[in-house]
Amino acid sequence: MRVLFIGPPGAGKGTQAARVAERLGIPHVSTGDMFRHHVSAGTELGLRVDSIMKAGDYVPDEITVEMLRERIAEQDAVGGFILDGFPRTAGQVEALDGLIGSEGLDSVVVFEVGEDELVERMLGRGRPDDTEDTIRNRFKVYQEQTEPLLEIYRERGLLVPVDGMAPIEEVTERILSALGQS
Ligand code: AMP
Repeated sequence: MRVLFIGPPGAGKGTQAARVAERLGIPHVSTGDMFRHHVSAGTELGLRVDSIMKAGDYVPDEITVEMLRERIAEQDAVGGFILDGFPRTAGQVEALDGLIGSEGLDSVVVFEVGEDELVERMLGRGRPDDTEDTIRNRFKVYQEQTEPLLEIYRERGLLVPVDGMAPIEEVTERILSALGQS
């Protein structure tokens, strides 16, 4: 099963993607986590993306797509994956179509959470890119670049809206049931 998790920053995508991936026995592939590993390991890629992430901007598509391409070619991802935080731009949607085919996805889970709740959650999690200015910029970038992508997946009939305001366990169950996996 190949599933995307899309939603505004702070919506709980990462938490839910990890939980759902474990239940389904498929890898949780998070481009944000991959970039953070590069930054903390001090790799060349990490040095390139550090300031971009701190500003709350998107890493250029060429870099992101190449990293993702290598990851989903690994053996554990052959039987499916949950992609968390990718694609985020129109170019990334196109690249993903090129990698798995335009009919390669089973579902796109969209997180719906109120904006006040999001800011509160993000300020509480203490990540280095969770300062107030960065949060504001990440929202703006999400609304400008990522939200419009939902239309593409809506047209393909793949959207599964999920109310992210409920308790963690309940959201997980709702997602599994929406995916026909409960
Ligand atoms: P996340 O953990 O998904 O919120 O990602 C944290 C940061 O990593 C983002 O604010 C971006 O700077 C970068 N990033 C993660 N995924 C992508 C992506 N698909 N395209 C561009 N930048 C990304």
